[in-house]
Parts: sequence; C-alpha cells; structure tokens
Amino acid sequence: MKKTNCFQVKTYSLSFISFFVFLIITKYAQSQEQMSSDKYFQEIVQAERKANGYKINPAPLNAILDYDITYHRCEWQVDPALKYIVGKITTYFKPLVANFDSIKFNLSDSLIVDSIKYHNSLLLSNHSGDIIIAFLSSVIPINTIDSVSVYYKGVPPSTGFGSFNQSKHNGSPVIWTLSEPFGASNWWPCKNSLTDKADSIDVIVTTPSPNKVASNGVLVSVTPSGMNTVFHWKHRYPIATYLICFATTNYVEYNHYVPFGASNVLVQNYVYPEDSASASSQTTDIIPVMQLYDTLFGVYPFVNEKYGHAQFGWGGGMEHQTITFVRGFGHELIAHELAHHWFGDKVTCASWEDIWLNEGFATYLEGLTEEHMFGGVGWLPFKTRCINSVTSQPDGSVWCSDTTDVYRIFDSRLSYNKGAMILHQLRWIIGDSAFFAALNNYLNDPALAYGFAHTSDLKTHLETSSKQNLSWYFNDWFTGEGFPSYEIIWNQTGSTVNLTVNQTQSHPSVSFFKLPLQIEFKDQTHDTIIRLNNTFSGQTFSVALPFTVDRVNFDPGFWLISANNMVFSENEAGQQVSIFPNPAKDKLQIIFPKRFEGTNLKLMDIEGRILKEVPASGIKKLTIDISGYEKGAYLIQFNSGSNTVSKKIIIQ
Ligand SMILES: [Zn+2]
Repeated sequence: MKKTNCFQVKTYSLSFISFFVFLIITKYAQSQEQMSSDKYFQEIVQAERKANGYKINPAPLNAILDYDITYHRCEWQVDPALKYIVGKITTYFKPLVANFDSIKFNLSDSLIVDSIKYHNSLLLSNHSGDIIIAFLSSVIPINTIDSVSVYYKGVPPSTGFGSFNQSKHNGSPVIWTLSEPFGASNWWPCKNSLTDKADSIDVIVTTPSPNKVASNGVLVSVTPSGMNTVFHWKHRYPIATYLICFATTNYVEYNHYVPFGASNVLVQNYVYPEDSASASSQTTDIIPVMQLYDTLFGVYPFVNEKYGHAQFGWGGGMEHQTITFVRGFGHELIAHELAHHWFGDKVTCASWEDIWLNEGFATYLEGLTEEHMFGGVGWLPFKTRCINSVTSQPDGSVWCSDTTDVYRIFDSRLSYNKGAMILHQLRWIIGDSAFFAALNNYLNDPALAYGFAHTSDLKTHLETSSKQNLSWYFNDWFTGEGFPSYEIIWNQTGSTVNLTVNQTQSHPSVSFFKLPLQIEFKDQTHDTIIRLNNTFSGQTFSVALPFTVDRVNFDPGFWLISANNMVFSENEAGQQVSIFPNPAKDKLQIIFPKRFEGTNLKLMDIEGRILKEVPASGIKKLTIDISGYEKGAYLIQFNSGSNTVSKKIIIQ
C-alpha cells in the first residue's frame, strides 16, 4: 500500500484528508513545491491524528483460530451507482479442534445476514459484535474439509482506508474495495486475520453492463445476464484475506506482456476511459521493473496467472494480489506495488507489528529500481529522501508498537522509510551476496512462501546467509529507536591520517549504534574510500595514504541512517564553533564540537577576566544568558587539552 498525490488534498474536508497519510515525492515533481506541500500535509495529518486518531481494537479480529480456510467462492452483485452489496460467500474450511460444532466469521453488524446454509439446510446463527456464529447441525471432525454459505446484503460502513468505496470518476460511477488492514469484514463475511490464507478463491461479480470487473487471478468467463454481465475470476494461489478485492466501472482494458522464458507474463490494465491515453504511456514501465525483480528475487510469484493494474479513486496504490489498484501510474507507485507481490503477497507479514516486512521491502525495492534503472540518477535522491524522513524526528521504531492505530501501522517515516533503510544498512554490513541470498532464501523458504513471516524469520535467513549473529542489529534498529550523529576529527602527519570518531544518539533506547563507516579521503586528483569498523565512541583510527588529504567525507554512499554529522580537521576545530546571533542581546546559542564536551565554556571580558563559566558536558549546544552585561566586546573561550578556541562576541 502506498499513499501519493497529495497536492490537491488540502482543498478537501478534514475528514477526507485523514485518509491521506502516506506521502511520497514523485519522481518528476518540482521538489520544493512538493516538499512544502508534504510538510503542510503532514502537519494536517498529525493534527487530525491527535484529534481523531483512528483506533480499533483488533482483538476480535484475531479471535477465530479454530479452523483453517481452504477456499472461498465469493459471489457479489453490485451496481457502481449504489453503495450497496449483495453477496453469497461459500467457505471451505478444515476444523483444527475436536467437537467443532459452530463456525465464526467476522462481519460488520451494519450488514444483514439473510441466511447461512450447510449442505442446503439452514443454520441457526447469531450476528453481533461484528461476528457471526453459525451453529452446525452436526460436529465436523477435525481436519475434515466441509463448507458453509453465508448470504448477506447491505451498505458497508466506511472505516480505515474506505474498505468498500462507491464514488465517481469523470461523472461515471465506480466501486472499489480496499480492505487493508482490517476492512475486509466491513463488506464480506471472512476470517479477518493474518494467520490463515485461503488456498484459492473464485470471485464472481455481477455488475450492470457495460461495466467491467477487475479482480484477483485469471478471468475465466464474461457472461451476459439480462441487463448485467457476470465476471468470473479464478485465483489458484494462497491469498490473505485483506488482498481479496474487486473494482467495477466503465473500464477500458489493454494488455502488456513481460517476456518470461519461452512465454510471457500477462499484464492486464483496467483504466478509466478519460485516463487511458496517459495510462498506456506509463504502464509499459512495469515491464523492465518486473524483469529487474525477477532477476533479483526470482520469477514473479503468480506467473501462472497474471499481473494487472485497476484504476481506483484512493490517492495511492494497493497491492491486491495479481491486480494492483492505483490512482495514477507513476514509476515509484507501480514499482512499489509490484514489489509487494514478492514482499507482502507471496510472503505476508504475520502480524501488523511486522508491517515493515511488507512496506519497508516495497519501499526498498522502489529504491532498487532507481539503482538499476534510468542510469541510476534517482538512487542517491531516493536514499537521502529516506534518511531525511527517518531523521526528521529523534525517536520511533520500525517495530510497530501500536497495531490498533492504522496511522502508526502505515507510518511512512517508520514502516516505510526506516524499514527500507535498515535493509540498506544490513546490505552494507553483510555485503551484497549474503544480503540478496538471504532475501531469496526467505522468499523461497517452504515455511514462509505463500504464507506469513515474522521479523525473526527474516533475521534467521540473514544470520544463516551472513554467518553472523545479528541480534544486536535488530535490537538497535528494529526495536530500538533513534539514530546516530557522528563527529569525525582528523589530522594528517606525513602519510598517516588519524581519525577520532565520536557518536551521539538521538534516543536513549540505544546506547551506541555499532556500524561500519564509509569514509572518503580526497585531494584534487585522489579519491580513496575506506571502511572503518566503529565499535565505540571515541575510537581512533590511523590510515596510510600516499597523498595530502584536503577533504574527508563521511558516508559518501549514503549507507547509514544518520544526521547532523560533522567532519573537521584538527586545525580547523576552532572554526567549527558557531555562535549566534552575534551581535546578541539577551541570549547566545553556541554549537561546538564534541571534543569540547567536559570542558567549561568561559565568558570573558576583553581583558581576559572570567565573568561566567558554563559546563559543556554531554551536550553540543549551549544557550547562555547574557542579559545584564554591559554593551561591548567579550570573548567566548573553550579549552581542550592544548587546544584553546576563543571567539569574539558583541553584546548589544
Ligand atoms: Zn506498500
């Protein structure tokens, strides 16, 4: 799932805005304008979130554990002009417990259950608390496949990102569904959890002609029926409940084919007629993206069926299995949603706590397309954008600490950007070959493929592949919060460059971020990049270099999540003390290198008499009160070993 296209949103009502959570900078957008728009929008979202935070209690959704779904036959009748659904869901299931004499489904109380049938006989049932309980006429033995059919109808409620949406595009009515994360039971009776995938489904939708229906899998028949048309989609891969979908409107359909071995993968596109010209010029971009993912992560996981796009009205995209719903067709969005078919659909997060296994990966794969496509020009901007997002606040973990809060689950800074960058850091730590091997092993692990995974499953594959214990990394970067800031002090004696590496942390949950550092040394004609294994703050390193260094760059490859880094040579140390404002009236703010921590800052008059001493321990920034001093020139002085820095200031 990915949110985008937020420019025009500020003209909508606040309640509508509350859906627009996830922001991206689109590839060709004017970044300045968009940055301010994004910032403006984030502020609204934050304000909305505080005011109305969308919370739900997911406990009942996870309550159904006593049977395993094997199959759903979903029969729906809709008219895109009406927000209304009539449905019959036939579920095949296997009891996982003895004495299985009733079956539960999650279904909103807003919908009306007409009847529940078992072997053509009506069952007694109860529907309250958004749960249906149907009382079976006999006990079904454990592990025996059986089935029931639920007949229902009504107006689905609007929650989450809409779940079941009826709207218009260019005057034409449209219905689309978007169940992630908890919305499926708002419009169909299901087992609304992340613990069970149906092995296969059929989706049969009746809609007024000449509308078309897009859904999961293969379109096996299109049958006229009076004023209506019946579209039958068949999907024979395991599928999570939230990925089952349909959309119907007056779509224009066109296809692409992605070469695969001796055959092709079909890409079906269902687009609004008014957008078909622009869409068809953009959707061809999916061909090289799918080929890239095939190369990096193995063949498209649903290769026997199809991939597709269906246009909808929500401002972003949703990775419904084999049929991504999108509003627009920009590169990042379609690359992100296709990426989910490996990370999210084939291997699905086993808990919303682990949502980054979907969203961090899909975001990182967007980045990989920038690394490998378009001459790589978008790769550095992608990484800096992610790092800037993550470090815009001092706290927050990739681990989703509140799975009742939809906004927290889909937090673009943490689940998306930090998730992507902790993958990138891991790639730097364990190397490309171990990193990509681990990801392929994860995707192909029989216990995970076409099923669910926890973060610990990914960790196990990374540890096996790299032959390293990575608990420290997941402690610091998955559950830990914040990021490091580095101060690199260097000097050169002959052919030896000496470096001291200091680190501070933005959040107390991590006492030190143990990371290898990439350092670049340059002069007019030389450029040497080395890797330092930094294991504690204050660590010193000596590097032999055959030239006189005039510049040292920290992390030139943008491998690390870090910010506010400072690099300076020993003899420039004094220049790194900044004082402002100067001249000043009441207060002075002073930023100084870490090396001066633990010393006292002295305010002196021009004759050198000490007027005030301020301890500078443990901080890099001081604000001192200068009110009450006479106007004139004064000195600010630091002492550190043999190094004294004095700066003249003017008090007005
Ligand atoms: Zn996504």
